[in-house]
Amino acid sequence: MEIKSIGIVGAGQMGNGIAHVCALAGYDVLMTDITQEALDSALALIRSNLERQASRGKIEEDEVSAALDRIRCTLKLSDLGQTDLVIEAATERETVKQAIFEDLLPHLKPETILTSNTSSISITRLASRTDRPEKFMGFHFMNPVPVMQLVELIRGIATDEATFKACLQVVERLNKSAATAEDFPAFIVNRILMPMINEAIYTLYEGVGNVKSIDTSMKLGANHPMGPLELADFIGLDTCLAIMNVLHDGLADTKYRPCPLLTKYVEAGWLGRKTRRGFYDYRGEGDPVPTR
Ligand code: NAD
Repeated sequence: MEIKSIGIVGAGQMGNGIAHVCALAGYDVLMTDITQEALDSALALIRSNLERQASRGKIEEDEVSAALDRIRCTLKLSDLGQTDLVIEAATERETVKQAIFEDLLPHLKPETILTSNTSSISITRLASRTDRPEKFMGFHFMNPVPVMQLVELIRGIATDEATFKACLQVVERLNKSAATAEDFPAFIVNRILMPMINEAIYTLYEGVGNVKSIDTSMKLGANHPMGPLELADFIGLDTCLAIMNVLHDGLADTKYRPCPLLTKYVEAGWLGRKTRRGFYDYRGEGDPVPTR
């Protein structure tokens, strides 16, 4: 089946990036969220990101308006039932995702493929609660979506080959590269990345280093483009905590226990860049200021 239209659930930092790259690749995009403000700010961000790409010569000027014309927004989740492929990119909470699929199911065309951009939640479990586990898979983009090359494709236990191939074709049309992962907690990238970020937070918690020394160490000492705490702020500390909890619960190994300092930041509502405060404070005019 050829995918022509893509429905995106959640217009947050991942959803808007996914809409951006799909529209640029020529797909008709229908995006939904729970508030009109979320949709409006996603569209404004997509416009400014596309314009920046054009000003840097990465895309042609006329591609900006062509891509924007291909993106429609709706507050009615049921409208996405007519699309060929749904990519769910809502908040990283299993109950939220389950409720979305449950509400969407009665409105779906029989052939629609369902996918989730989850960073860690079991694809097999999400799929098992739908009427089409064979047409369900993990479609995991990296952040920021327009920049990052990788998409992890995760097959659930029941995912069929046609669904996998259709998703792989989408990845190729987006000009990205796919890596295939088995469906185990947090898949490949976050299984490796998140324990490193969590360990950096333990290093901070135990006073081995402060925010600046930890990030500088990993940037200059391990050649990472971003320090782990800077990266945690970029990902969102709520998302980091959710992924650590999935690893801890799913693999039942204490080496994955989330650092209490991570929990504390999340409880404070200091979620990183998206709330303008996390391991750094982004509220001022100048460079972000470490909060520890
Ligand atoms: P975010 O908080 O920026 O956005 C989530 C959006 O989902 C919000 O706009 C919220 O209003 C919306 N939402 C919540 N419930 C909804 C519902 N019932 N219907 C429609 N929209 C709803 O989060 P994000 O960083 O964009 O993460 C989204 C997903 O992508 C998560 O599953 C996350 O694990 C995954 N992901 C995140 C990253 C990252 O670096 N942040 C990377 C890869 C994958």
